[in-house]
Amino acid sequence: MKILVINCGSSSLKYQLINMEDENVLAKGLVERIGIEGSILTHKVNGEKYITEQPMEDHKIAIKLVLNALVDKDYGVIKDMSEISAVGHRVVHGGEKYANSVLVDEDVVKAIKDCAKLAPLHNVPNMIGINACKELMPDTPMVATFDTAFHQTLPNYAYTYAVPYDLYEKYGVRKYGFHGTSHKFVSIEAAKMMGKDIRSLKIITCHLGNGASVCAIDGGKSIDTSMGFTPLAGLCMGTRCGDIDPAVIPFLVKSVGMSIDEVDTLMNKKSGVLGVSGVSSDFRDVLAEEAKGNKRAELALNVYTYRVKSVIGSYIAALNGVDCIVFTAGSGENSEPLRRRICAGLSNLGIVLDKERNNVMGKPAQISSDDSKVKVFAIPTNEELMIARDTKEIVEGR
Ligand code: AMP
Repeated sequence: MKILVINCGSSSLKYQLINMEDENVLAKGLVERIGIEGSILTHKVNGEKYITEQPMEDHKIAIKLVLNALVDKDYGVIKDMSEISAVGHRVVHGGEKYANSVLVDEDVVKAIKDCAKLAPLHNVPNMIGINACKELMPDTPMVATFDTAFHQTLPNYAYTYAVPYDLYEKYGVRKYGFHGTSHKFVSIEAAKMMGKDIRSLKIITCHLGNGASVCAIDGGKSIDTSMGFTPLAGLCMGTRCGDIDPAVIPFLVKSVGMSIDEVDTLMNKKSGVLGVSGVSSDFRDVLAEEAKGNKRAELALNVYTYRVKSVIGSYIAALNGVDCIVFTAGSGENSEPLRRRICAGLSNLGIVLDKERNNVMGKPAQISSDDSKVKVFAIPTNEELMIARDTKEIVEGR
């Protein structure tokens, strides 16, 4: 069975065609600048790149070009589109309706549209991608995998904000959490690496990319996570502030004279490690500046790593212990210094890294020492594969 995974953004689209017999990626690629001048498709097969530059007015045209690339007689990987058994779509917000991936039908389409008010920047393009695929492949089943679904197991006291309850009832104001597909994937992989049934494990997963979140997983179920109503909450991130005193917002509006849109942009795009360091949102740049003696870069990294450490600590309390901690995504998978700083001084909680093992980049590895009570792993995330696995299970179970 071959499954096409689509992750549709407002002007970009990522895809992978996966052979589910061996979970091998047959082809993958990226379309950028959809609807803008300079549209470009980069299609990759076995490490070889094939570039198509031509105007792409909308997502339907972009997806058509992706399908053409997949069946191309020179660099295609399938003979015919009928070889694609199903399409798995990444959808950011499923609200409270979906705790699992689902087959796309009219109800699901309506729910994705309803949730667009909670995540307009994401659900709208996600829906455009689903519609375009449905038009081009009307007989192929489509599955939606939601970033929020994995966190639907949070207990109500973890997801309820201490504001008047009718804000939840009327407007859905609560913690939803994001990166769920990634937290689920790496927790399953960690259980496999430990040779244990996930139902017997307490796991804390740290997805540390440009966006970042931590998740507490008890017996395979998310019981708390650091992002909230939106992906702005929780950790300090590349450009997002994460948790701050909410009273800062009216202060910026009333006393500093900023508009609410300016505050929104400031918190999402100009804050985090970029805002504190003044250097960059890319951790590699900030680490390099710190090494040159830049004190603001050092402060930004200390703020960042301290925040991750604090959330890990609070989740150890929420879980009443922890068997394993996983680092994933750009910095989590690759950064020896960030993992070292986050785990420093946690030996009393049974967390001790092995200096040599922690040098690993981009491959699954145990990075804790043999005498560490808690196992610590670096595991590359693979949201596309998780979506493809869910899609296969749903399509086979129809
Ligand atoms: P992601 O959102 O998962 O694609 O992660 C992107 C982020 O990972 C970038 O902002 C980089 O700062 C970070 N990153 C990638 N490689 C490294 C590395 N070797 N060390 C530190 N951060 C890294």
